Amino acid sequence: MDKASHALKQSLPSAVRRSFRTLTLHSDVAPPKLRREDYTVGWVCPLEVEQIAALQMLDTHHDRLPQPATDHNVYNLGSIASHNVVIAGLPQTGNNSAAAVVTQLRTTYPNVKFGLLVGIGGGVPVKTDSGMIRLGDVIVSKPTGPHSGAVQYDHGKALTGSFQRTGALAPPPTVLLHAAQDLASKRAMVRDDPIAKSIERIDTTIRTLRHFAYPGAGQDRLFKADYPHQQHGVPCDECGCEASQQIARRTDGTDDTYIRIHRGTIASGELVLKDAILRDRLAKDGLICFEMEAAGALTDFPCLVIRGVSDYCDSYKNDMWHGYAAAAAAAYARQLFFHMPIDEVQ
Ligand SMILES: [Zn+2]
Repeated sequence: MDKASHALKQSLPSAVRRSFRTLTLHSDVAPPKLRREDYTVGWVCPLEVEQIAALQMLDTHHDRLPQPATDHNVYNLGSIASHNVVIAGLPQTGNNSAAAVVTQLRTTYPNVKFGLLVGIGGGVPVKTDSGMIRLGDVIVSKPTGPHSGAVQYDHGKALTGSFQRTGALAPPPTVLLHAAQDLASKRAMVRDDPIAKSIERIDTTIRTLRHFAYPGAGQDRLFKADYPHQQHGVPCDECGCEASQQIARRTDGTDDTYIRIHRGTIASGELVLKDAILRDRLAKDGLICFEMEAAGALTDFPCLVIRGVSDYCDSYKNDMWHGYAAAAAAAYARQLFFHMPIDEVQ
């Protein structure tokens, strides 16, 4: 085996390495396939924009594997930093859909021990240890105070003004909490930001990937909670929303595009939250993010929830930041793999 082939072989997961010898000796054989048992991490992403971002983060893409006829999920397989990952989308957003997909994924891929729930979410514009929560930042679940990292709430009750928690959600797996901690400290020490580097994997000069580009700090507007967006469906540049009603937020001196990672409690409910007053009332309990799938996935599956902030859960909510926020969340998820101990996962 020549030097280059040897180096390539060493960089592959052990299961692929076993078949590599055959492959290099007989170039006419099909590319190696792993077994379903070789996949150890699940990556669940509800929206198409989130799935595209996830696929761009894989080091290698693997061939699809046969699956039971009873499993209707569509999986994408690959690896990141020697971990074999199975990516699953959701047929629709929401907790029920997430629960069904995760249950099937765990049956078909029996060695998947935990998951990453990666996508976009609504941020609560408060200050955390990492600074102000801004659009394009990433929020990651972490047990804080009495919460396990994610709480499920009854949206119907919430509309009447009471925050009622329903169901206990599994805390993130310890190995992922350690990985998140390690990533944070290593990232703080380097000049080249690994998360920004991962975002660059998405080539936004390709026409169909343009919506993943950074929209610009000027498009990150936060208005007073009691001043709703003036014209539904019309961007703020044209809708007549008064600039004087905008909340001025100072940056902390770092580059606007530096993605801050905020770790804390994420709330998972059934309906889209588009009301700043309600948001602030619900968030009093220390919540920093609202989303719609964690409760379904987490019922009996330990996951780390990773949400790129695409809006502030207010009437200004629109799609402008979806692509970039999805890219930021996926880039963070990718970097975590480099901080997971391989033995623990397998
Ligand atoms: Zn407006």
